[in-house]
Formats: sequence, C-alpha cells, structure tokens
Amino acid sequence: MINLKEIAWKRRVSLQGPILKHVRTLQQRQWLPYDQLLHLQQKKLTRLLRHAYEHVPYFRSRLEEAGVVSSDGSVFLDNFSKLPVMERGTFYPYYETLKSDDLCQRKWYENWSGGSTGEPIRLIQDKAYFQWNQAVKIMYDQWSSKDLVDKQIVLWASERDLMVGKETWKTYMGRWMRNEQWLNTRKMSESCLQNYVERINRFRPVQILAYVESLYELARYAEDRGLAVHSPRSIMTTASMLYPHMRGKIEQVFQAPVFNRYGSREIGAIACECEHHTGLHVSMFTHYVEIVAPDGRPVSPGETGELVITSLHNYAMPIIRYRIGDTASWAVETCSCGRSLPLLKEITGRVNDCFVKPGGELVDGRMFVILLGTQSFVKKFQVVQNEVGKLDILIIPIQEMHDPHAFYQDDVERIVAKCRELMGEEVHIQLQFVQDIPPTASGKFRFTISNVKR
Ligand SMILES: [Zn+2]
Repeated sequence: MINLKEIAWKRRVSLQGPILKHVRTLQQRQWLPYDQLLHLQQKKLTRLLRHAYEHVPYFRSRLEEAGVVSSDGSVFLDNFSKLPVMERGTFYPYYETLKSDDLCQRKWYENWSGGSTGEPIRLIQDKAYFQWNQAVKIMYDQWSSKDLVDKQIVLWASERDLMVGKETWKTYMGRWMRNEQWLNTRKMSESCLQNYVERINRFRPVQILAYVESLYELARYAEDRGLAVHSPRSIMTTASMLYPHMRGKIEQVFQAPVFNRYGSREIGAIACECEHHTGLHVSMFTHYVEIVAPDGRPVSPGETGELVITSLHNYAMPIIRYRIGDTASWAVETCSCGRSLPLLKEITGRVNDCFVKPGGELVDGRMFVILLGTQSFVKKFQVVQNEVGKLDILIIPIQEMHDPHAFYQDDVERIVAKCRELMGEEVHIQLQFVQDIPPTASGKFRFTISNVKR
C-alpha cells in the first residue's frame, strides 16, 4: 500500500539535503571490517584537521604546536592526542576565534547546549553536520526496529525542542508526516501522567523515545496504579544516564527492550546500543571518540576514564578533542551483532557528580542514585553537596501526606545511616520532603549535584 506520509516525509527530508543518501551509506558501511572503518574515519579526521588549521584561528597555533599539522599542511595523526582538549568553558571566551573564516560559504545556524552542569554553550553548527546527525539517528532507530515514519511517541523535556507556545503549522505538519506525538515531560503532575498513559495506549507507537528519568517516572506511575500500557516494539532512552534499576523497571512495565542512546546537543548522536545490547556502538562515521585517564593516556578496555570527543562534520565551528564531562569505559568483549564499530561498555556519569568526603576522598554519585532510586516510597529525589561535611537530600514521596517524616521515620533513618556510611560518620545530613524539584534549563533532571570545588 502506498504510504502517503512516507512519501511526503521523504520529499520534505530531501529538501534538507542528502540525509537519506547518508542513511543508505551508513546502512552499508556499518558492516565494514574495523580496518576499513578506521581508514574512512582517519580520512575524515585528516580533512577536518587541515580545515581547522587553514580556517579556524583558535586551532591554527595549537595544531602546529602539538605537531598535528605542519606549516605545509601535512597532518600527523600520531600526535593527535597531544592537542590540548576543549572544555565547556572554551566556547564563550573563544567564540569568535572558533568560527571558521569561510562561514559565508557555509549554511550554518546557532545552537545552544543547556547548562545542566554549568553555563549554557553557544555554538555554530552547519548543514553538513545536521544532515549527518539526522542520518545517524535514523540508523540508530533502525537498530531498534523503528523505520521511517513508524509511529513514535516522544517524551521530551526540552522546551526548545517541544516548541512550547511557538508551534507553527510546520511543526504540526512535520510531526504528522513523521508520525510523531510529543508529550511535554516538564509537566509530570498526576493528571499529566494519567493523560500520557492514555495517549500512549490510544496512539500505539512502534517506538517510544524518551528522557530516561521521565519514562522511568511514567513506568512507576503506571505500575503503582496498576494501569495497562501499550507495549511498543522498542524504547529509546536518551539525555541522562540509564541506571540498571531504571532499565529494569521500564522494560518490565512496557514489556519492550530499552536502547540507550548517548549524545549531546553540542556534538550530536555519538553512540547507541544495537539489538544485542552489549554496549553502545560509537558512530565512527561522525565522531572520533577517546577515553583518557587523568594523566592523558588512553585507557585500557574495562578501565574508566573521561570521554574526549571530536565531531567530524561540523566545519563551521570545529569541535576537536572536546572533554564533554562524562566518564565511560570501553567494552572488553566484542558485540556479536557483526558490527565492528567500537563499543562503549557504559557511560558512567557526569564527572561533576562525585561527592567529596571530609578527608578529600571521592564518592561516586551513582551510589546515591541506586540507594534512593530503588526506594518504593521515593517518587523523585535529588542529593546536593554545597560544602564538604554536609549533604542535602530532597525527596518527593510517592504519596502526599501531612507529616512524611513521621510516616517514613524508619526509612529516613535507614537512608541517613547509609549515607553516613558512604560519606563518613561526621557528615551532617539534612533530609527534606518537598513537593517539587525543578529540572535544569535543558529539561534534564539531575539526581546528584556537587558544588564542591575539587
Ligand atoms: Zn552490536
């Protein structure tokens, strides 16, 4: 049967450039042997570095000093790891010198990355970057058995993407053609959650794409109320760390496999799980990913380090060796799906999510997420450290009540004791029951925040 939506959507996408051509390229290249993938990636990286040397003032001297590009334009990839890393804080002061001097020949647009862990980043991206990023996301969707214009529910919390109050006929037309329905998860009141379950059941999506924490909250709500929910073919989670207890609950309630996708607004869709769920395959077609130890050396498989990422297609404002702020490790094993794209075992969280004990020792923030996220009486929580020796725990209980401290006294004592075990007996722990914990500007929710300088 002729699918008019698909024809209309493909027509519209083709107006945005060669996205579908890129998809076909990716569909073939994902099965190439590793040495061929590496060769293609190195060609792209070499081209990007030469461009950065010739057209981007910020990089010119840095590339030369690191011995990555010589004055005659020769590129030495062996020296690539000597190039100093970029940070979130690099964008603001160097904004002008990070721009390519041939911008007038490029189709470009400004973008902002929300400040979930600091100041928002303002940057420039170009059409070529956009097209490749869209193509990679379509490939990831296909890994999760969602094809073009298959029905999708998007549980999203970024107001900018949701276009709250700024929807035009084009917004609605695009969503209709793509067969998408968007649900705003910045609002998660009981009536909203009830409404979202009903909309999912009515629309019967093939895939649910969601902010992890929003879908987890919805899954718990449905389970708690004994509501039947439509089971999609797959679920794609993104935007925050996917903890095992969240994956378990979401899969149990929706009876569908969860695919973890990793990326960021400033650098695009970096990696995603395939149908074998062994880890997250890195898109070598669009990114060069390093994981480095504190001394700068590349980590061994299984060893955790900081992610340093290069975006291979954004020539308007190249992002080269960008310390994105997350930690991760390479998988020790290979994936049995047949793709030789490198495999991230797991993304282990924000670098800033470590808490500092009075002696200076660090405590992994994930410990608190697992401790509090698995308590049946906790609907939502946040753990904040503003100074060494203090810890603030905010909890929204699953049921509103007059005196939750009295009602949950045993649970509170147990949690406080466990937190003391983790942070040290002398640490002052304040646990408060609250009615709301707002998300960050980007809509992401942060379970842990450490404001202690290390
Ligand atoms: Zn795989």
